[in-house]
Amino acid sequence: MPSLQSQYEKARRVLPGGVNSSVRFNRALGTPFYVSRTRGSRVWSIEGREFIDMCCAHGAALLGHAHPAIERALHKAIATGFANSFETGYHEQLAAKLCACIPCAERIRFCSSGTEATLHLIRACRAFTGRDKIIRVEGHFHGYHELIYIGGQPPAAAFAGNRTHPYVETPGIPAAFADFIIPVPFNDPEALASAITDHGHEAAMVILEPVNYNSGGIMPQQGYLEIVRKLTRDAGIVLFFDEIQSAFKKSPGGAQSDFGVIPDVCTVGKAIGGGFPLSAFCGRAAIMDLLQPVGPVQHSGTFNAHLIPVLAGLAFLDEVAKPEFYARLQALESAFYSGVDRIIKKHDLNMIVPHHGARFNILLGRRTPAVRYEDTFCHDKQAMLEIVRGCYDRGVYFHDYGGGPAHHGYSVQHTPEDIGLVLEVLDDVLGSLKGKLR
Ligand code: PLP
Repeated sequence: MPSLQSQYEKARRVLPGGVNSSVRFNRALGTPFYVSRTRGSRVWSIEGREFIDMCCAHGAALLGHAHPAIERALHKAIATGFANSFETGYHEQLAAKLCACIPCAERIRFCSSGTEATLHLIRACRAFTGRDKIIRVEGHFHGYHELIYIGGQPPAAAFAGNRTHPYVETPGIPAAFADFIIPVPFNDPEALASAITDHGHEAAMVILEPVNYNSGGIMPQQGYLEIVRKLTRDAGIVLFFDEIQSAFKKSPGGAQSDFGVIPDVCTVGKAIGGGFPLSAFCGRAAIMDLLQPVGPVQHSGTFNAHLIPVLAGLAFLDEVAKPEFYARLQALESAFYSGVDRIIKKHDLNMIVPHHGARFNILLGRRTPAVRYEDTFCHDKQAMLEIVRGCYDRGVYFHDYGGGPAHHGYSVQHTPEDIGLVLEVLDDVLGSLKGKLR
C-alpha cells in the first residue's frame, strides 16, 4: 500500500507540488491528502485509513460523498450518452428550479467553477453599467482570475497599503489590473459611502461575500447589508453577492434570503452540483439579457452545463426540497456548535468558531467576533497546524489551506454519532493546547 509520502514523491515529478489545485497541499501533513475512496461522511486515505471528513470538498460536498441520488443522476446521464455540449430539457428545468429558490434570480447561466462564474458576471455588470471599476471588500475571495484576485486577502505585512495600491495576490497578474480595484473594509458603511462618493461614477459593482467564510467566518453586522443595498441602489451601482460558498448552506435561498437583502446579481456554486463541477451566475433580467444571443455580451464554453452536473444539480435540488434536509442539517448544527462552545469554555480557549449553517471557521487568538479582515491577523497558524495534525492522528480530516483561518464543514450524510466523535476528538486535541494558544 502506498504512503502519502511515497505518492507525493511520485506525483510531484509530474504535477507541480503533487497537486492540481495549489491549496490541496496540506502543510499540517507535509504532503497532499491522497485518498482512495469516499462515501457518505467518510474518506479513506491511500494508506487505507478511514476519516470523518470535515473538509467536505471545500463546501461542495453538502450532500456528502457518493450520495445515492447523485449516483442515480450519473446513471441517467450515461443512458443519454451524456448529450455533451447540447441543451436539453433538463437545463431549463434546473434553471427554473434555481430561479425559484434564489430571490435575485430572474435569469441564470451555468458554468463549471466559482472562478468562471465571477469572471463572467463581472463582465456582464461592466457591460450593463458601461463602467469598469470594481468596489470589493477586504478579506473576501471571489476566485483566482485576473479581474478580482487583487486586494482581497493581502498578507498582514502588505495590508497597510492595500487601499492605495491594491495588493495583487499572485505574481503573473499585471499590476495594471489593480487600477480597476477599490478595496473597502467589511462592515464599514462610512468607508463604502466614501468610496462611492469618490468612485461611484466609474464603479460597475460592489462585490462581496454576504458571509465572509473565506477570512475567518466574519458575519455582516446588523444592518450592514441593508445599507450596502441602499447605497448601491442610490448610486446606480450593481450589488453583486458572491454566494459560491454561502448558497444552500443554511437555506435554499442562500444568504440573501437568510438576511433578507436581495442583490441585483449573484453567483452560486460548490454544493449545487452534488459533487460535480457546476456553478452559475444569475440576477435581474435587465443584466442577464445582455448575454449573447439576446444582447452583445459573450458567455460561451464547450463544457458549460455538461449533462452530468446538470442532472446531478437537479438531484441535489430534489434532496434539498425534502423537509428533512434542513431539519437534519439544523440538528447537526445545534449539536456541533453547542458542543464546540462547551469545549472552548471547558478549556478556557482563546478561540472562536464562527458559523453560518453547515460551514464554520476556526479562528484562533480571539474570543470576540471579528468584524474586519485585519481582526483575523491574530490567528495562530502554527497552533492551527497542530490542531489539524492532532485531529488527523485521531481519524478526523480538517483541511489546512496554508493561510489564515480556514473554513470547514459537514454534510447532510454526517450522523449525530459522527458529530459526537468529532467533538470527542476536538475536546482531546484542543485540551492539549490549553494555555498554549496565543
Ligand atoms: N467565490 C467564493 C466566495 C468562494 O468561496 C470560492 C471558492 O472557494 C470561489 C469564488 C471560487 O470557486 P472555485 O474554487 O470553484 O473556482
